Amino acid sequence: MPYYQNINSFKQCSTHDAFNLPHGPKAEVRIAGIYRCDCGFEFAVNASDAKPASLPAERNCRNHANEWKGRDGVPVWLLVAAAIHQVS
Ligand SMILES: [Zn+2]
Repeated sequence: MPYYQNINSFKQCSTHDAFNLPHGPKAEVRIAGIYRCDCGFEFAVNASDAKPASLPAERNCRNHANEWKGRDGVPVWLLVAAAIHQVS
C-alpha cells in the first residue's frame, strides 16, 4: 500500500466497482490514482495525464524497475487510491 502520514485522517473506504477491476499490462484506465500490482509495486496515474492512460507495459513483475525485487509473474493491477471526485 502507499505510505500515508496521519492515517487516521484518511479512513474513507469506497465501494466503487473501479477498485475491484483487475487490469493487465498496458491496460488503458480513465481513473487517476494509485494502482498497485499484486506483487506490491505501485504506479500513479495523474489527473493531468491524457485519458485513457496506459498502465506499465512490462509483462513480468521483475521488470517494473531496476531497484524492484519483484517476483516472476504477469502483473495484475488494481486501483487502490483515487481522489473522491474521480470515483463518486
Ligand atoms: Zn508486479
